[in-house]
Amino acid sequence: MLGSAMGCLTNVPDDSEWERFEYVEPEMGVDFHLKFYAPNRPEAERIAKAAYARVEELNGIFSDYDPGSELNRLGRAPVGEPVAVSPELLDILQRAQALARDTRGAFDVTAGPSVRFWRQARKRGQMPRVEELQAAQKRVGYQQLSLNAVNRTVSLRAANLQLDLGGIAKGYAVDEAMAVLKANGIARAYVAADSDLLTSGPPPDKAGWKIELRNVDEFGNFYPRTVFLKQIALSTSGDTEQFVEINGRRYSHIVDPRTGIGLTSRMQTTVVAADSVTADSHATAVCVLGKQAGLQFADRRKLQTLVLELAGNRPQVTPSRAWKVWE
Ligand code: ADP
Ligand code: MG
Repeated sequence: MLGSAMGCLTNVPDDSEWERFEYVEPEMGVDFHLKFYAPNRPEAERIAKAAYARVEELNGIFSDYDPGSELNRLGRAPVGEPVAVSPELLDILQRAQALARDTRGAFDVTAGPSVRFWRQARKRGQMPRVEELQAAQKRVGYQQLSLNAVNRTVSLRAANLQLDLGGIAKGYAVDEAMAVLKANGIARAYVAADSDLLTSGPPPDKAGWKIELRNVDEFGNFYPRTVFLKQIALSTSGDTEQFVEINGRRYSHIVDPRTGIGLTSRMQTTVVAADSVTADSHATAVCVLGKQAGLQFADRRKLQTLVLELAGNRPQVTPSRAWKVWE
């Protein structure tokens, strides 16, 4: 017994001597980064390829752009008829629906019609028409989706749902890409899709992966704050980059599904969690809830959240009680 256990131990590779490899590929509409330590280049290339292949497979399921994606096919299913879905689609929808219930619909993957109108508005620099938004609202509501985990089916309660996993799919893909790295013996890695990142073990001789977060000083000036993260996910969400300005108001690409309107509160939220799918979806949810309700939600769930408010002439940063990345 002892002998075989020892044998096992000596077989564990010493990755502290391994080389660092970095890759970036366009996936899911963003730069998808992989950084990790591997024994040699051919191994690293093979593993990176496998990770990207997994992301592409997921995109084929989750995409709201591709009319043939499993998600879009589900949205066109006949009302009331159970549709068998892939384990991945069932899994991500279960997480999305749980968060929708927890936030009373602030996070809602059926908000696709309104998201689409605000996306067009952003392109044209023009408000969506009120009638359009009102019509879109009829197809929005997480209760329109009914999941059956036992039979692994989903049924619709309204016709023609426009499902949108934009607030959760990148996090899911990041977790899955990391799982591929792990399955291939990679224990020191950084995976990021735009503002959703996940770290496993740190680089050799380092406390963690170097990440820069936006912070403000006591005078309201922005400055990058460097943190070192390991075995944790971090996501940022907010309208500081993607918005349309109409008549002096900024409307975000994140909508409040309860009104169908793009968020106008200028807020950015950061969430730190054990996995990327949680960090991604919760960062979007806290954004929709707004500062006060968002921080209350975070405190009730012991969620590590940082809210950066841009309203007024002095930006402000407020951490939730559980925040421990700094302080
Ligand atoms: P980003 O895509 O910029 O990283 P998020 O993770 O916050 O930011 O996701 C924003 C995306 O989530 C939108 O582009 C849209 O696809 C989707 N979305 C918008 N509003 C909501 C909402 N209230 N609930 C769930 N998803 C949303
Ligand atoms: Mg998100």
